[in-house]
Amino acid sequence: MAKVDIKYTKLFINNEFVDAVSKKTFPTINPQDESIITQVAEGDKADVDLAVDAAVKAFHRYSEWRTMDASQRGRLLNKIADLMERDAKYLSELETLDNGKPVAQAFGEVIWASHVVRYYAGKADKILGNTIPADGEVISMTMKEPVGVCGQILPWNYPIPMFVWKIAPALAAGCVVIVKPAEQTPLTALAMAALVKEAGVPAGVVSVITGYGPTAGAALTNHPRVDKMAFTGSTEVGRIIMKGASAVNLKRVTLELGGKSPLVIFNDADVEKAAEIAHRAAFANAGQCCVAGTRTYVQSGIYDKFVAKAAEIAKKRTVGNPYESVQQGPQIDTEMFTKVMGYIEVGKKEARCVAGGGRHGNVGFFVQPTVFADVTDNMKIAREEIFGPVQSILKFETFEEVVDRANDSNYGLGAGVVTNDVTTALAFVKYARAGTVWVNTYEHVAVQTPFGGFRESGIGRELGEDGIQQYLENKTVTISLPKKAML
Ligand code: NAD
Repeated sequence: MAKVDIKYTKLFINNEFVDAVSKKTFPTINPQDESIITQVAEGDKADVDLAVDAAVKAFHRYSEWRTMDASQRGRLLNKIADLMERDAKYLSELETLDNGKPVAQAFGEVIWASHVVRYYAGKADKILGNTIPADGEVISMTMKEPVGVCGQILPWNYPIPMFVWKIAPALAAGCVVIVKPAEQTPLTALAMAALVKEAGVPAGVVSVITGYGPTAGAALTNHPRVDKMAFTGSTEVGRIIMKGASAVNLKRVTLELGGKSPLVIFNDADVEKAAEIAHRAAFANAGQCCVAGTRTYVQSGIYDKFVAKAAEIAKKRTVGNPYESVQQGPQIDTEMFTKVMGYIEVGKKEARCVAGGGRHGNVGFFVQPTVFADVTDNMKIAREEIFGPVQSILKFETFEEVVDRANDSNYGLGAGVVTNDVTTALAFVKYARAGTVWVNTYEHVAVQTPFGGFRESGIGRELGEDGIQQYLENKTVTISLPKKAML
């Protein structure tokens, strides 16, 4: 077990680490061995109120933050990215302790997350309005202004990337934020808060309230002085956020929610390469990925060969101590472990299990990489988001059939196609109802491109230019102009 120094366990409000008003704490658990890592301050409504007070003050029209040159906001973000690079080893070891993901993967995520911060650093002084030729008596223009106080609720599957997906575009836009990390993974959000302070971001601009969803998260969602909510997590909680966000005021809402994404493999594909792409699509991050391509549709001509290859790769997947060189660590917590194992039991009754199918070891929340073949569309494992290392393989015959079947889901986050035929690929791209469609790859998420879902997979987009627009209001300015100059 790695020894990781835990420096921060308190709430971060007004650039200080403080106890919860209630003095309550909650344990954060090591998913590798089920032990308590440490106690963390348990924020609730009283703490959210303090953070909102600090945020409102930081957003005052004459505050340091509001009067700061836009390029200086960019410099501060770049400084945060520098500090993330400096501390990448520490941050990734801390992430692995709290989340269980392999430490090399966590390191890659920290570096990738620093690129997100740099991307938005570059955007801070390039927020442009328009001039608009309206009718003859006026000059019109638009000004883009920060939305204001933003509540940002994070999931546990990619804690550091999610932290910066939320705060970087918001800060570039000039907003102030209150972040509520997932209760399963509070530690890296607090470590990131310390870097935000070290970078020189003024007090009150970023607060981090650790605690539970129905208490701290709900207090944020229902707060009358919060102007916007940004949330990543389950569709179920997304609905609660949307409802709460419209109860006391009308908060802007962006939601990144769940998925049950299809990956479609045609007969002309190279079976080995396709099986590798499909494996990564289903098993990356122990399957705890919103865009996981868990419905693998394979055309009948290569179906048997593909199933054999998929099973072979899954059996070879290395699972275990995430501080060693493994591909997969444990699931996040006992609840998700039990949920995933429940789906596996259902799957064993519904379909043909060709790899895995059980727990890995007997300590920690490890699950064997599991592959089901001969899955059909109405099976539970084909319809519901499992959020674990489980791949379902379904057979298809024709393009038309598979497009209908791939789109037959309430979700619409990701979709993928593997083929060497450009017409087939582009036709699939055109007809897939999903926020991102990958061709001959999967789960490649670029900092510069928008990410988000159709249908019940979400509202709005993060990353890219779209990501910053979600933190801006559009103000129209209309100036009267006499028809003749009165000079
Ligand atoms: P969740 O949606 O319950 O939790 C995500 C965040 O929302 C956490 O910070 C949590 O504290 C907060 N939250 C929970 N209830 C809340 C409430 N009433 N008001 C305000 N905030 C609230 O997700 P989970 O329980 O951690 O995982 C359950 C399922 O969510 C998974 O099985 C998976 O399907 C999905 N999930 C999706 C993503 C994603 O990236 N889209 C990430 C994590 C989990």
